[in-house]
Amino acid sequence: MQKVRLGKTNLMVSRVGMGGIPILLPPFDTAVKVLKRGLDLGVTLIDTSFGYDDSEVRIGEAIAGRREDVTVVTKTSWRSKDRALKALEGSLKQLKTDYIDVWLFHNVSTTEAYEILLRPNEAFAAGQEALASGAVRHIGLSTHSLAIAQKTVTSGLFEVIVFPFNFVNNHAEDHLVELARKHDVGFLAMKSFAGGQLTDANLAIKYLLQFDNVVPIPGIETVENIEEIVEVVEGDWTLTPEDWQRIVAIRERQGSTLCMWCEYCKPCPKEINIPWVMNIESMWILWGKRGFPGRMLKHIDQGRTCDECGECEDKCPYQLNIRETLRAQLDYYDREIKHQL
Ligand code: SF4
Ligand code: SF4
Repeated sequence: MQKVRLGKTNLMVSRVGMGGIPILLPPFDTAVKVLKRGLDLGVTLIDTSFGYDDSEVRIGEAIAGRREDVTVVTKTSWRSKDRALKALEGSLKQLKTDYIDVWLFHNVSTTEAYEILLRPNEAFAAGQEALASGAVRHIGLSTHSLAIAQKTVTSGLFEVIVFPFNFVNNHAEDHLVELARKHDVGFLAMKSFAGGQLTDANLAIKYLLQFDNVVPIPGIETVENIEEIVEVVEGDWTLTPEDWQRIVAIRERQGSTLCMWCEYCKPCPKEINIPWVMNIESMWILWGKRGFPGRMLKHIDQGRTCDECGECEDKCPYQLNIRETLRAQLDYYDREIKHQL
């Protein structure tokens, strides 16, 4: 497996990584086997979070005995210094390691949240303390907001950015990839398959491999998933005219519905948490029955109060057809999910 330099961290990481949410779907022992198969194939970067159920425990089991060969990326959602450090302690324990390669501040979605993070006694200070103690080797940030991603990359404070990037949600292509390169910030691409909504690994991974400073971190559930991805990485990445035709067709079909979770559409006058409702199907594909977040039910109920005022669509920078997508997502819930919960 090819390696690539992850920006100024100077870490040489595998050309693709493994994302740590779908690995929650199989039973524990199967998940460990899947992860080990990925490692054996040379996929040695794994991205997870303290908040992803027992994902870190599964990964800890899989990397035992080969820690030095693996790049472990994990996250905390806590914003206060003390709580972030407590979460870090938990991550180290669950991953059975004494250091994290890249520690991320998870899902920083607004300028206000970004500014709070940097205040004394908030999570960024925890990062500095952990860097000094050696518990963490590099720090970064994950976000769904392009503006926050750009701020992060140009700030000089973070070594890695994690941002959604796939051939449908491809705003990073023009607005982030070169900026990250210029500032030598490592770029991990989340949502390589748009949360499971893009199903063609050949197309999705080949597209991202066109960007030599971007490392896709697709979610992995089965041995077949990781073997298929590795086959793409080890094959010819050239996008053929037929590939481009398919990309254009999928963009036309799904481009107005795939939500980036940037939250620019909020607030809604009906207090609907729009991105949650826009993502019912992808959350179901990602988390399944076992992990489908309980709070989703509240958002679904609230989603049903939409009066189609359209305010959200005026604010969405991706010109998504929010009203129609909300209706379709609620129908999907009624049809495919409700009876299974
Ligand atoms: S269209 Fe629906 S979701 Fe959008 S702002 Fe209006 S009430 Fe909220
Ligand atoms: S609907 Fe649009 S504005 Fe709202 S979170 Fe999704 S992409 Fe962002």
